[in-house]
Amino acid sequence: MEGLKLVLSGPSGSGKGTIVQELLKDDNFKLSISATTRNKREGEIHGVHYFYKTKIEFEEMIKNNELIEYAHFCDNYYGTPKAFINEVVKEGFDIILEIEVQGALQVKRRYPDAIFIFIMAPTFEELKERLISRNTELPEVVEKRLERAREELLLFKEYDYIVINDSLKDAIEQIRYITKSEKLKSKHYKEHIQSMLEN
Ligand code: 5GP
Repeated sequence: MEGLKLVLSGPSGSGKGTIVQELLKDDNFKLSISATTRNKREGEIHGVHYFYKTKIEFEEMIKNNELIEYAHFCDNYYGTPKAFINEVVKEGFDIILEIEVQGALQVKRRYPDAIFIFIMAPTFEELKERLISRNTELPEVVEKRLERAREELLLFKEYDYIVINDSLKDAIEQIRYITKSEKLKSKHYKEHIQSMLEN
C-alpha cells in the first residue's frame, strides 16, 4: 500500500514542531523537508530542519517548477520541494508536510487524497504564552505570528481533523489513531479484495 500524505498545520506555538519530532520516532513516518528564506535558528541544521535559501535562490526554484506549493509567511518564503514526496510515498512511508494554511490549500488542490490535520493550542492565551516563552523570535515577529494565527484559525474547516494540543502525549496518540484509521478505509483494499476474488 502507498503511504499517506499527512498535512499538519497549526499556528506558531501550537506545538506542531514538537509533535512532528515525536511522530518521526515511529518507523512509518518521514518528514518532507521544506525550503525557506528565513534565518536559521540556533540548533537548526541545513537539510535536516529546512533547506535554507536566499530570496533569489527560492525564486529560482519557483521559476523552475521545483515546488509542490509555496507561501509567503511573515516576510519569508516557505515551500515544499517536489522530488522527495512521491518517491517516499511509493516506498510505503507516510509523509508529513508541516506547512502553513495557504500551502495546505495548494496541496489540497493537487493531492485531494492527502489528509489534513489542524493542530491548536487549547486557548489563544496559551498560544501567546508558548510563543513568547520559546524565545525564538523578536517581539515584533511574535506579534506578526499571533496576527497570522488568528487568520489561520479561521480556515479550520478546510481540515479533516482538529487536534487540540493540551497534552503532548494525547495529541501524538490522536495523530497515530488518525493515521491507522485512514489506512483501514475501504478504498485502500480494492486490489486486495480483487485478488481474493480471483483466487
Ligand atoms: P517556522 O519559521 O516557525 O519554522 O515556520 C513558519 C510557518 O511556516 C509554520 O506554520 C510552518 O508550518 C510553515 N512552513 C514550513 N515549511 C513550509 C512549507 O514548505 N510550505 C508552507 N506553505 N509552509 C511551511
